[in-house]
Amino acid sequence: MDDWDESDELIQKLDFSSCAEENEMEEDSSIQEEAPQSSSPQKSWDFQSWRVNSSLAVTPKRKVGDVSLTRTKAWVSPTVDSASSLRKNAGPAWECPGTPLHYSLLTKTAFPSTVGKFPSKGPRHLRFTPGADPDDSAQASLVNINPFTPESYRQMLFPPNGKRKARGEMKQLNSVEWNQACRRFLLRESNMVSRYKKEFLELEKIGVGEFGSVYKCIKRLDGCVYAVKRSKRQMALREVYAHAVLGHHPHVVRYYSAWAEDDHMIIQNEHCNGGSLQDALLENAKTGHYFQEAELKEILLQVSMGLKYIHSSGLAHMDIKPSNIFICHKLVTDGSAAQEESDSEDDGFSSNVAYKIGDLGHVTSITNPQVEEGDSRFLANEILQEQYCYLPKADIFALALTMALAAGSGPLPRNDAMWHHIRRGNLPPIPQQLTHGFHGLLKLMVHPDPVARPSATALTKHPILRPSLGKAAQLQKQLNVEKFKTAMLERELRAARLAQTFRKDQSLGCARLESETSSKQNCNKRLVGGKNSRSFSFTWGGY
Ligand code: ATP
Ligand code: MG
Repeated sequence: MDDWDESDELIQKLDFSSCAEENEMEEDSSIQEEAPQSSSPQKSWDFQSWRVNSSLAVTPKRKVGDVSLTRTKAWVSPTVDSASSLRKNAGPAWECPGTPLHYSLLTKTAFPSTVGKFPSKGPRHLRFTPGADPDDSAQASLVNINPFTPESYRQMLFPPNGKRKARGEMKQLNSVEWNQACRRFLLRESNMVSRYKKEFLELEKIGVGEFGSVYKCIKRLDGCVYAVKRSKRQMALREVYAHAVLGHHPHVVRYYSAWAEDDHMIIQNEHCNGGSLQDALLENAKTGHYFQEAELKEILLQVSMGLKYIHSSGLAHMDIKPSNIFICHKLVTDGSAAQEESDSEDDGFSSNVAYKIGDLGHVTSITNPQVEEGDSRFLANEILQEQYCYLPKADIFALALTMALAAGSGPLPRNDAMWHHIRRGNLPPIPQQLTHGFHGLLKLMVHPDPVARPSATALTKHPILRPSLGKAAQLQKQLNVEKFKTAMLERELRAARLAQTFRKDQSLGCARLESETSSKQNCNKRLVGGKNSRSFSFTWGGY
């Protein structure tokens, strides 16, 4: 929950029971007013000028549109083969009327139970009753293929022979059927109640990005605050795919849901109550304050943990920068019991603040890269050169420059001599004295050779960032040596005791033997059969 007052008005607005049907009639004014541009003119201008000015630019250079076209081809679902030829003729997939069909399907199938809970008023609602309409069964078999899922998983869902074990057979649509299905879906979708308006109360706009706007909202049902991002849908699918594959990690902004409406993709994410690192840096700039080394190390460590998770999932972020790192301040929990509970879990908080990686709009697979370059100020040179063998190291490069900014560096260059100077392995000037070790680590992260840069995993264990880990490892080593020595001494002690026992037994045995021999001799003098030796016994280890 966030820090908002529980005014009567707000509580009234949050009354979920009143919203389901009433809101259907409302004009979607708040959403309509924010129809964002597909890309920021400022950003694209900068990018182009940087391209022209960069002396390292190699030919042929791709345009963003070219990259996207390739990507779309690579990700197209095997289940929509019959549509792919149509798509090719119609241009890039996001212009194809088939695309909304997938989104609509995802939206509805994600919440099958709501159909029952909120009875439909009439034909304006989508219905998924397989078999009710001859085309519905075909639509129900159309799904997007997430390019970030492991190949083995995809093959399990969609075996090469096309025979899926799920209910219902795949129906391959010819182009006419495809067009008809899409038209009808579009028609239905545009008549839908806005799920956004129905399920969320918009509190404020918290960000305007390259592809859309982000709003702070309360979900009417659970009363919690979320960040809801509205993007031009074709741009946001990559982000949805990445979030869905990544799952939960304390240093990655959490994803809850995504759906399409009004030609936009809506993504419901965890709301980070401290805003972005960029917001914090702007605030710092106003007051002339910089993050100090201890804080910088904490940020670097936490973001490295998030990156380690992303990289170990086979993905690279490709747009690490202050505006894509989010801050969560831990909220005070009532009661000491709750405090004890949270202490025992790794919730990602250290000193009550967690840094999380967000905006997965540029994420790509490491093994099958479809790179859409991020912000040129943070771009590693090898990515400019279209060498994609070490994508995770491009994130490390961008993270180092992010840290330099957090340490107080001035604005980073987008091009020209200074841009190249940094790509030769130099950090931008930092206006505070950092320790030699930490400065050296940041410098290593911008090394021109990506192989020389530390990996995210190495950073999470680095003695400069985790001295306690080094100390613990050292103590553990010492402890192991001491344990080994103790074990050896115990063995020697046991052997010595055994030898001592043996000697005692031996001397005891000799004494008995002697006394028995003498008594036998006496007996022999008195008894017949005195040669019988059965009374003699010698036992080892009597102790
Ligand atoms: P950009 O081009 O600046 O990277 P974008 O379109 O890629 O923007 P985001 O980075 O996801 O979109 O969000 C834009 C801004 O919205 C952020 O800089 C931040 O201020 C705010 N914002 C986004 N997500 C969240 C969140 N989960 N919690 C809090 N604020 C957020
Ligand atoms: Mg962003």
